[in-house]
Amino acid sequence: MEETKIVWPAEVEIVEVGPRDGLQNLPDYVPAETKIELIKRLAGAGTKIMEVTSFVHPKAVPQMADAVKVAEFAVQNADQLGFKPLALVPNLKGAQTAYATGLREVNYVISVSAAHNKANINRTIEASLEELENIIVALPELKINLSMATAFGCPFTGEVPTEDILRLTQSAIDRGVTTITLADTIGVANPVQTLGVIRAVQQAYPDISIGIHIHDTHGAGLANTLMAMSLGITRVESAVGGLGGCPFAPGAAGNMATEDLNNVLLRMGIRTGIDPVRYQESVSFVQEHIQASLLSHLSRARSYQEFSFYTNS
Ligand code: ZN
Repeated sequence: MEETKIVWPAEVEIVEVGPRDGLQNLPDYVPAETKIELIKRLAGAGTKIMEVTSFVHPKAVPQMADAVKVAEFAVQNADQLGFKPLALVPNLKGAQTAYATGLREVNYVISVSAAHNKANINRTIEASLEELENIIVALPELKINLSMATAFGCPFTGEVPTEDILRLTQSAIDRGVTTITLADTIGVANPVQTLGVIRAVQQAYPDISIGIHIHDTHGAGLANTLMAMSLGITRVESAVGGLGGCPFAPGAAGNMATEDLNNVLLRMGIRTGIDPVRYQESVSFVQEHIQASLLSHLSRARSYQEFSFYTNS
């Protein structure tokens, strides 16, 4: 039998979504100062891209009511801290507010599942696409990445047909979008499904840049991420501590934990730019100031200092 070799990427871009997706679902308000301190620490560990907040209506997601303050800090300190800030926006108003803080790149979210889009954004997919056009017309200098929520499963309707993903991708391309993120919003994907979905999009739209946003509800987050990487995907969203969940996706657990992902990638010889020992300090900060009990493996494992994985290199 002929040997098929997996070509792993030399480098993976970890997009830290902890300050947004990680925190948005927490019942107790995390003060803006604590969010800002977390952003500083994550950047200090080598995080290059961070989704710092979400410009949603504060009644819908009270945790993000300080979006302007957090985004302004991120924009004003991004160069010094060495990272690129992003924010999530659900509509034109959110995009305009984000733009006014100085942000020049956003993740605009549409769910592949119509039922989830209704619950999350209170719009039809068609109306969300119209709103995307409104943003492009109103803010031509804003780079817009389309985050495609529930691409691997919907909390209301279950399986999501690949044709629906392809149709939404086509609609995005028709409007000039060049980057999409396939999101497993509720963390139910498996590696075979991940392979099928990503291959289908790559084959239909070879020019579009694909990233992934993986939740770890069923414990398959790392397996799905590695499957995506084996297909050439190098933009991966994850959250510190494995925090996270969607307020409008019942049953969704945390994101893929950045420290777990980073650890495995580094040990595979794949560059991320994130220092694992310094990143653990951000994990400890989360445990002390935000949430004591985390789902990530490394938040429960022995400390790096007890091993020689990184200290000798
Ligand atoms: Zn998410």
